[in-house]
Amino acid sequence: MKVGVLALQGAFDRHAQELSLAGAAPLEIRGPKHLEDVDALIIPGGESTTILKLAESLGVRDLLSDQIRDGLPVLGTCAGMIVLSKAIIDGRDDQNPLGSIDIDVRRNGYGRQLASFEADLQIAGFETPFRGVFIRAPLVERAGKDVEVLASVEGNPVFCRQEKIMTTSFHPELVSDGRIHELFLELAFASS
Ligand code: GLN
Repeated sequence: MKVGVLALQGAFDRHAQELSLAGAAPLEIRGPKHLEDVDALIIPGGESTTILKLAESLGVRDLLSDQIRDGLPVLGTCAGMIVLSKAIIDGRDDQNPLGSIDIDVRRNGYGRQLASFEADLQIAGFETPFRGVFIRAPLVERAGKDVEVLASVEGNPVFCRQEKIMTTSFHPELVSDGRIHELFLELAFASS
């Protein structure tokens, strides 16, 4: 199974490593052509403004949102969550997300004191906690009724799923724990 990692900007290397460890073949996506033969996709952390701008100028944006709408499984982490959201609060005026998952997120929503932090997350279906690394993470301020919340921190969703779209406010690629990537691959390749 070929899993693309959007490699326009940001933390894509570690995702590729985790995918290999989980038994998938990672593929760096840098233009529309690369998107043609992937079975699933990861949108990494980084700067959502830059990722969206580059996606637009490289001609990836529309193709990406069409493919996701047509069922391409996708995991968005941190900035990737912002890119996939329906609405961005405190984003730039020209920052239009793809609207693939029914959540509204506040950029850098954990505030100055908590700009970066770690937390042990209880994730539905995991036997032991998952260490969540949050780096200027988005705060999910609204999750629609079709969104399943798989983990929260102090009442705020940090891991969301809607059909084959998963988003995390934290960086699962930065801890040596492949369970989120494995879960994503299971979801992506489960017959539905
Ligand atoms: N704050 C960044 C943004 O708005 C996201 C940070 C991250 O991906 N670690 O895009």
